[in-house]
Amino acid sequence: MRDDFSKATKITLAQRVGYLCSNPDCQKSTSGPSSNNEKSLIIGIAAHITAASKNGPRYDPSLSRKQRKNINNGIWLCSNCAGLIDKDQNQYSKQLLLEWKTVSEFRMTISLESLSARIGDEFISDNNGDISVRLKEKYKPFSLSNNKELIFSFHNRKLELQYYPYPQYWEKNYEYISWVSPYYYILPKLNQLYNDHEVSILHPFLQSVVHAGGVEGISSFLFNYTYRNTNVPTYDQFYAAIKNHFKGKHFDTALKPVGPIIYAQFENNEYKAHTYEGRAIELNQYIDNQSYEEILTMTNSSFWSQVYLDRGIEKSEFIPELLRNWERYWKEEIIKGERGEYVLEIIQKNKQQSWRALTLFSESYNDVGDIIDFAYDLDAMELYPMVVYSMLNIFEREESINLYCEYEFEYNDWECICIDKSEYGTPMIFLKEAYK
Ligand SMILES: [Zn+2]
Repeated sequence: MRDDFSKATKITLAQRVGYLCSNPDCQKSTSGPSSNNEKSLIIGIAAHITAASKNGPRYDPSLSRKQRKNINNGIWLCSNCAGLIDKDQNQYSKQLLLEWKTVSEFRMTISLESLSARIGDEFISDNNGDISVRLKEKYKPFSLSNNKELIFSFHNRKLELQYYPYPQYWEKNYEYISWVSPYYYILPKLNQLYNDHEVSILHPFLQSVVHAGGVEGISSFLFNYTYRNTNVPTYDQFYAAIKNHFKGKHFDTALKPVGPIIYAQFENNEYKAHTYEGRAIELNQYIDNQSYEEILTMTNSSFWSQVYLDRGIEKSEFIPELLRNWERYWKEEIIKGERGEYVLEIIQKNKQQSWRALTLFSESYNDVGDIIDFAYDLDAMELYPMVVYSMLNIFEREESINLYCEYEFEYNDWECICIDKSEYGTPMIFLKEAYK
């Protein structure tokens, strides 16, 4: 009996490393264009760190079947490397594969390419999976003469960045830097701007850097630039609200924007600040991209339930829409199977199973009060996100998403930290502990 990964697990494993092979000596891309102009091709494999079945390499009898097919037991590799690690299980130990995985995911997080030349080249992961970076000699704190984290200069019409981390970001022996500086969240964004050919915006950007003299200036500029045509509050408005909330107490002033969310450090706790406007942007992206995976993992079914219960949909209107989305989804899956990306027989079996769930859902539609909850219980992986997606195609979307946001911010431990709650037009900013 093999304990294979689910399709969602495989996709997540691949996406977490940008479809690149996780062997640090290989890093080959495992996705590319198919000979069919409209399709892509996947040549990577979600390999088991400890084997899926008895007598397989690195098999760990102490794991339950559930643990064996959990994402923690998987690593994304190209087909060559997947073969390699199974040939010599002493050389390719569980420990080594876990290290490959951590480092590869880490590379993706910070868009390593742009950093490696400038910061250092040795990445160390400890047993807890935490990462630190050993810096090159010249970046050590004693070169921190002007107390700036980032130094900008132009060479041959190219912008160059040099990084001098603040002493508080260093481990005590000055050998390593812990991964906390907001700087790391900025570099990938900068690269993206370069890639998007928005070079002209770099002039005000550089001015703001010179003016503010540090990470804060860049953070605020990039955040405001990204959300310039939306109603997301400005960086300064977030900053003012957070500062006001921690009145007089010292908090780390370097705020970390990640998407529309702003993270702040206070007394060794990390907090996140979010807004209706920012959350609506995220939700709209999940729907626009028809990303069932993000609907499943990044949203909460009980809030979608509330949206449904507030409004309700006629069966005659809902089932045909759901059926259309169901057919489109499985048509795409079958094509993937036919191209050999996934095992066709498994897809067909899953499709049959999904059809049974859909039939049951459709038959019971009028008898259940909460169809979102019902779909979630029937089949959380596919049917449930499909039902949410179909619902939003029928309802007025903006209003539904606003409703969702209202429920989320009301019932999810968020605290409103707007500076003046009475004043109309003051942005509503919500705060909670990041990992609660
Ligand atoms: Zn490889």
